Amino acid sequence: MSDPRPQARLRLQLYPRAESAVRKGHPWVFGDSIRSQNREGEAGEMAVMYDRKDRFMALGFYDPDSPIRVRIVHCGKPATIDRAWWLSRALAAKGRRDEVFNEATNGARCINGESDGFPGLVADRYADTLVVKVYTAAWLQRWDEIESILREVFAPKFLVLRMNRHLLETSEFEEGFRGPEGAEVVVFLENGIRFESAVRHGQKTGFFLDQRDNRARVEKLAKGREVLNVFSFSGGFSLYAARGGAKSVADLDISAHALESAVQNFKLNAEDARIAAVPHETLQADAFKWMDESERKFDLIIVDPPSLAKRARDQAGALSAYRHLNARAISMLRPGGILVAASCSAHVPAAEFLGMIRELAEQSGRRREELWTTGHASDHQASFPEAEYLKAICVKFD
Ligand code: SAH
Repeated sequence: MSDPRPQARLRLQLYPRAESAVRKGHPWVFGDSIRSQNREGEAGEMAVMYDRKDRFMALGFYDPDSPIRVRIVHCGKPATIDRAWWLSRALAAKGRRDEVFNEATNGARCINGESDGFPGLVADRYADTLVVKVYTAAWLQRWDEIESILREVFAPKFLVLRMNRHLLETSEFEEGFRGPEGAEVVVFLENGIRFESAVRHGQKTGFFLDQRDNRARVEKLAKGREVLNVFSFSGGFSLYAARGGAKSVADLDISAHALESAVQNFKLNAEDARIAAVPHETLQADAFKWMDESERKFDLIIVDPPSLAKRARDQAGALSAYRHLNARAISMLRPGGILVAASCSAHVPAAEFLGMIRELAEQSGRRREELWTTGHASDHQASFPEAEYLKAICVKFD
């Protein structure tokens, strides 16, 4: 028989540093920041945090299985976290993206986790399909309410639930379509280019939406150039380069599946004469090995690897891998060639990454011009340092 006594609310007190970080708006509390708690907490329950004077401070999702022990939902005066609360946050997230969605773009991020007040939840729209990826049990416990809010605010025809690995292994929920079954691969538009997204089984939510603005920048640089897209995934940068008038584009990726998707994306845009006119090559290889061995030259090289630092202690190793790859890329550039180097590793700070690329550029001994550096696109707004994972830099060499 279950225990009929209602449990006392989970109450936490934090160490002073964590307390002031939360007050300043940081959305995470790590396990070693908790000074005391009235009992063991359960995955997904709402914890109440009190300050050192025992006054109410914040509310957050508790997770005993994650190093991020609490994800802050609210900090300030006491508040009721109910349907109306989440609805207003979802409407605010939608409002912040009014500019992103238009006739030419129906695929972009709708909710970006903590930065939109939905800690541990991401929602990406691809045409009529909303893909919701959850990273903490709290959302599964409130799933019916959250699903109804997402349907009300974003009005998708189809909705897919995806989970991180830990939840897949531990929760009774299953991934997949909720309600009517849609297609597992969805075609959507990004700046007028058609792409497919493997919403049910693909990496992340099926596509890397975070590079949209950088892809548009590459389009403007591509005219007349032979382009190499390293870690191409489904060819995002290449399609833009092709539309921008590239002489040829080559996608390099270790995954046959990713390259098949790139070929498919070119087919999807065959009606665009500018894209159809450009020769598209796929190279299935380990990028590190291929870059070391190839003697080919290009006029524009994009290097956008997967996260090379999964943990903070990987930072030095990641930086040296970025250094190696980009040094090779620079040496493969013809006179007048352009390097676009990106990093999506949250544990490699922008300053270190940009500094390293500038150093490489200097060491090349070539005259050079830095054309731009970028961070996040507006649908991936980041409200705290750890959320600012993406950085990119573009350098032109004589
Ligand atoms: N630039 C892409 C996103 C890159 S995601 C875009 O704009 O959409 C990272 C890609 O790197 C994945 O497609 C993955 O298959 C590929 N990858 C991972 N390790 C690799 C390696 N060692 N060599 C080549 N590709 C690799």
